[in-house]
Amino acid sequence: MPEDNCSLCGTFCELSFEHIPPKSAFNKNTRYKIVAYEEVLKQENILEAKFKSKIEQGGIGYYSLCRQCNNFLGLNYVNAYTAYSNSFIEFVKKKQFDYFQLTMHEFEAAKVLKQIASMFISLNTWSFSESHYELRNFILNPNIQDLPSKYRFFNYLKGEGDIRNARVSVIGDLNSATTVMGSEIAFPPLGHVMTIDFKGSLSYHHEITNFKNFRVDEFVSTDLNVYRLPTHIPMFLDYRSKEQIEKDIKSSR
Ligand SMILES: [Zn+2]
Repeated sequence: MPEDNCSLCGTFCELSFEHIPPKSAFNKNTRYKIVAYEEVLKQENILEAKFKSKIEQGGIGYYSLCRQCNNFLGLNYVNAYTAYSNSFIEFVKKKQFDYFQLTMHEFEAAKVLKQIASMFISLNTWSFSESHYELRNFILNPNIQDLPSKYRFFNYLKGEGDIRNARVSVIGDLNSATTVMGSEIAFPPLGHVMTIDFKGSLSYHHEITNFKNFRVDEFVSTDLNVYRLPTHIPMFLDYRSKEQIEKDIKSSR
């Protein structure tokens, strides 16, 4: 097993494999390829790209956490996250609809958010989390409700397309001169976005940052408005349809 700093507590040690999302949220037998971001950028037509990397099996994840932190998440947050995530499966199946207003009943919102935050910590490795102590502290201490407002979290229903694990990047909109810095994880049935220092709004996402305001042992019911968004290419906040991507590729030639 590789040695490095645990992305959560920072201890330098042998790292254990952390499933993202948790194994129990249908990420046990996932087959996938690991492709470097530079490889993706090189492709002329990402939709037709055939990557050479070998096929990995046994669930998506990263050697990111020490054994203790891995167990800590399993004991404290994973069950709450799995229950939350699984409750969206019935909506994913309703393919004729792309927008849902729903009420989630009696779920552990604070644990769900802490698990989601930990998934971003694992995905982005120590090089990111080293300078984000308050985010790590929010996860490591179940009772802490304080999380700086620069961290915001959003969800959506994952539509057609690939799994997306996008490390922290910045996208800019030349027209509106706005930029968004953040990271994204999309794995059926859900997509989650974490933004940093972003004060604007995301048109098709439901913000769940307020989950931090609940006590860790509190069961809550809340309304959610979720859009189904396609994730065809591994780019942060890219929800273009296949047709649109093809059109854009043609027009850029
Ligand atoms: Zn650790």
